[in-house]
Amino acid sequence: MADAIFRYSDSVYCCQVINMPIPSDLDALVLKRDQLKSQLAQIGEMRPGSLVARFRKCGKPSCRCAKKGAPAHGPSYSLTHPVAGKTVTRIIPAGPALEQTRLQLQEYHRFRELVQQLVAISEQICDWPLRHPQPQTEPVKKNSARRPPRR
Ligand SMILES: [Zn+2]
Repeated sequence: MADAIFRYSDSVYCCQVINMPIPSDLDALVLKRDQLKSQLAQIGEMRPGSLVARFRKCGKPSCRCAKKGAPAHGPSYSLTHPVAGKTVTRIIPAGPALEQTRLQLQEYHRFRELVQQLVAISEQICDWPLRHPQPQTEPVKKNSARRPPRR
C-alpha cells in the first residue's frame, strides 16, 4: 500500500493550478485545455466527504478520562458524506488507512478544481468564434436592394 500512498502524494503536491489566470488568446486557451485534460487523466483514487476527528469520554468512573480536565479518548476518525440527502459515515482506523483517506479526499478536491477550470477554459474556447467573428463572404447584393425608396 505504501506505493499507492506515495503515488497519491506525488500527484497532490506536483499540481499548483489554483486561481489560474484565463489566457486571452486562442492558442493559449487550447494549450491550457489540453494541460487540464492530461492532469485530469492522471487523477488517482479519490473520494468525496469530510474527515471528522472525535474525542470522547468513555464514561467509566475509574478511567483516567473521568478526572476533571483530563484529556478524552481519541481522536477517532470517521468519514462523512451526504448520499441522497442522508449522511453516510464510515469509521476510518488510524494509521495507513487514515493517511490514504486524506490523500483520496485531497485528490477529490483537485479533481473538482481541474473540472471547474476545464469548464471555464472550454467556455472561453466556445465563446471565441462568437467574440471574434470571421468576415463572412457576403452574398452579392442585387442592385434593386440598394435602390432608394420612392418618395
Ligand atoms: Zn475513558
